[in-house]
Amino acid sequence: MLPPEQTARQRIADLLFNTRLTSRQLAQLVGISERQVEDHLLHIAKTVASDRSRRFMLEPSQCRDCGYIFRDRSRLTKPSRCPRCRSEAITAPRYGIDLLTSRGKTRPEGS
Ligand SMILES: [Zn+2]
Repeated sequence: MLPPEQTARQRIADLLFNTRLTSRQLAQLVGISERQVEDHLLHIAKTVASDRSRRFMLEPSQCRDCGYIFRDRSRLTKPSRCPRCRSEAITAPRYGIDLLTSRGKTRPEGS
């Protein structure tokens, strides 16, 4: 049996495969808080970074009013305010995991 923490992380990794989801969507799907999702995402990003067959994708937040893109943010969380126009209408960043090779089979984490 995997500890619950591992299970949630594995579920998030599975959910992100070949799609893009916000941390809020992930929190609802897995049944944990957004804060916990962001913690898992950090670990998943590290795991995927060392895996040549997969790539962790981050679609940055964007200001809905002026189109400013938060490219240089190192944190995964959503910014609260646009530095250019001060708007608070910021889209949530979206995450995903893309498969880089078409023939590689995906193995369950830790096996
Ligand atoms: Zn703006």
